Amino acid sequence: MPFRKLREPDGPLRRLSPAVVVVVFALVMTACVLGVVAWKALDAKKTALARGQTDTLNLAHSLAEHATHAIQSADIAMAGMVELLRYREPLPERFNRYLADTVNSLPQLREIGVLDANGKWLYSSLPPALLHHNSDRPYFSNHRETPGNVLRINEPVQSRLAERSTIILSKRIDRQDGSFAGVLTAAIDSDYFDQFYRMYQLGPDGSISLLRDDGVVLIRWPLSEKSMNPAPAELFSRYPKQNPVGYNKITSPFDGIEKYIGHEKTRHFHMVVAVAISEEWLLSDWRKTLRTDAIVSAVLLLMILLLTAVLFTQFRFRIRTERALRESEAHYRLLTDNIADIIILIDARSLLRYVSQSVEQVLGLRPEDMLSKSCFDMIHPEDRESVRSATAQLSGIDAVCTVVFRTWRADGTLAWVESKYKLAALPSDPARAKFLCVIRDVTGRKRMEDELNQLNRRLTQIAATDGLTGLTNRRTFDDFLQRQFECCDEISMLLLDIDGFKGYNDTYGHQAGDRCLQAVAKVISDVTSHTSGLSARYGGDEFVVVLPDAGEDEALKVAEAIRLAVRGLGITNAVSSRGYITVSVGVASRTEAMPDDSALVGQADSALYEAKRHIRNRSIASSSLDLQYVDSESIQHNTEFATVERAR
Ligand code: GH3
Ligand code: MG
Repeated sequence: MPFRKLREPDGPLRRLSPAVVVVVFALVMTACVLGVVAWKALDAKKTALARGQTDTLNLAHSLAEHATHAIQSADIAMAGMVELLRYREPLPERFNRYLADTVNSLPQLREIGVLDANGKWLYSSLPPALLHHNSDRPYFSNHRETPGNVLRINEPVQSRLAERSTIILSKRIDRQDGSFAGVLTAAIDSDYFDQFYRMYQLGPDGSISLLRDDGVVLIRWPLSEKSMNPAPAELFSRYPKQNPVGYNKITSPFDGIEKYIGHEKTRHFHMVVAVAISEEWLLSDWRKTLRTDAIVSAVLLLMILLLTAVLFTQFRFRIRTERALRESEAHYRLLTDNIADIIILIDARSLLRYVSQSVEQVLGLRPEDMLSKSCFDMIHPEDRESVRSATAQLSGIDAVCTVVFRTWRADGTLAWVESKYKLAALPSDPARAKFLCVIRDVTGRKRMEDELNQLNRRLTQIAATDGLTGLTNRRTFDDFLQRQFECCDEISMLLLDIDGFKGYNDTYGHQAGDRCLQAVAKVISDVTSHTSGLSARYGGDEFVVVLPDAGEDEALKVAEAIRLAVRGLGITNAVSSRGYITVSVGVASRTEAMPDDSALVGQADSALYEAKRHIRNRSIASSSLDLQYVDSESIQHNTEFATVERAR
């Protein structure tokens, strides 16, 4: 689980391109906006129409009541007059005044008059000069032919007196024997109703009509040329016949406009009041609101369009970025999973935050098993401190440290790895990677290095050692002596040579000579092992011992110890005058006059020469060359051999 993979959309959405998603989003948003606006508009229209119906019917009811009261009050007054004229013939002056008073008390009346059986004015609330002959009016002949005292509401006529539309109310006057005595008329100006109707706001195409239930229009307000057209009586009579109160939508017979008409039949007198309101006016407020809503919707749709464009751009940008990231991640994955090195990210708490897949190939471990564990868990306990101190010294972002440590493979075997640590970032967030670590398996290399080192050590040892005796060789001795001579004020050396060795070789053979050399060398090595000195094979049957910080006395003691030990080996040497293998030793110590180490060697060689020149099996100090030999008996470790030498 090296990198967290970029997630791609799951399910059906994965098959949809972002363009389709954005378009669907825009369409859904548009549909929502339009749906809300349409629903609101329809609801508002429904409310406006319902309110219009209520208002229209309320008005029709009020106007029906108003018309009933206007006609009824006139009818009551006229009924009293008809009864009076049936039994009496009042004086014209008094009855005319009575009629005038009645007209004055009933504002809807313009005049009241009485026609006799011939149609001549008998009484009138108007002056005689204003009277016209009305016997030709249809209502007069109708009353004359039809007995009964029912109030007749006649078709509106154009008043000959006032020259305006007038409704004539008429009642038949009977004599006491029931014969026709004349007609009582009352005139109502259409102005009376117009004045009242104009108080209502019904819009430019609204109208109020007062009709007889047979369809005859009594009052039409407002009075226009259109309304002067003969109204289809059938239309106005149809709805009241079906229902005394009703509300219907019709096309106006007057102006051809769609209108809602509310009507109510009056309780008496067979009249109908119809209130018409055009649909246009009824819905005018609704249309205004609809326009406002349409503007708001347009703005919203524009915003959705802009949002869609922005989303589309963002989606495209994001898709391109994600594609680039995926490609980049694939490249990194290809690299980190296939290189031979393990790449690790470690946070500030030393926890592994990322492990490349290659760890499986290199160590057989699974990256997911290592994540969130301490990086020190994978380091051998003996190597942890070196890793800790190396990484602690990393200070700069470019600094790199390399540490070789041991780690475990999945099978439990140890592997040597070389790890390069680099600061990945200065972590403000502890969870972020602090170290980038590249780990390489160097087990093979390490094994080769160890073998090489071992070989080198062996070679060095071989180069410094005499092959036959195992002592240090001449070249190493020379270096050692030179170094010690430079640093030690007090230094001594022994130069040893086996006595009569040539003859030994010749007598016992070369191999026996080699064994003899080895035995002598071991003696020298053993005797000097407790000192800080160096013993070496100088060449042939010669050996040398360097004793730093040792004076002549001490050197002589060592020389004698060696000489006696060699004699003590008891190696028979028939050709030697002693009968055994012995050594002669020249001893020299540094003096102030010695310029260098070769002078010291020269002194030792001179002392050896002196030892050889005399009886051999002797230790002679160079300081005593010119006057005395060092007698074995004068040494503290005197032996029988020294005594033998002196006897000779
Ligand atoms: P002196 O007492 O005066 O030293 O007499 P010497 O016989 O020992 O004479 P010298 O020291 O000159 O002889 C050295 C001999 O050591 C000569 C040579 O045959 C022998 N020799 C040198 N190197 C080796 C070696 O590696 N192995 C054996 N077996 N003999 C060696
Ligand atoms: Mg010799």
